[in-house]
Amino acid sequence: MTIFTKIINGEIPADIVYEDKHCLAFRDVSRQAPTHVLLIPRKPIESLDHLTPDDSVLMGHLLMTVPEVAKTLGISDGYRTVINTGEHGGQSVFHLHIHILAGRNLTWPPG
Ligand code: AMP
Repeated sequence: MTIFTKIINGEIPADIVYEDKHCLAFRDVSRQAPTHVLLIPRKPIESLDHLTPDDSVLMGHLLMTVPEVAKTLGISDGYRTVINTGEHGGQSVFHLHIHILAGRNLTWPPG
């Protein structure tokens, strides 16, 4: 079980900013921008590499929820979404999540 499942189960606290039947979003404890939120499915999928065709609707919902979360947070100047996958992708928690970063001019390319 990852730390994100514990957040879903309410076993550890999180600053939840959005939730529905299929997903929730909460503030990252180590924020990399003035606004930094993680959007996760309630289903404990390890990473993009672990998706199955059964997850298509859920993943569509997750992406469709990103602008909802941005609106909820009052983000008006754009944002960056990031999904880290595996070791070289920089993934550290093995429960699929979308980073939503905003509130400063984010540079490209990423580090
Ligand atoms: P990643 O490196 O893409 O797997 O992202 C994992 C993110 O989870 C990191 O940005 C961490 O700061 C964040 N994180 C880890 N534990 C917690 C927690 N308990 N509450 C909120 N964010 C967390």
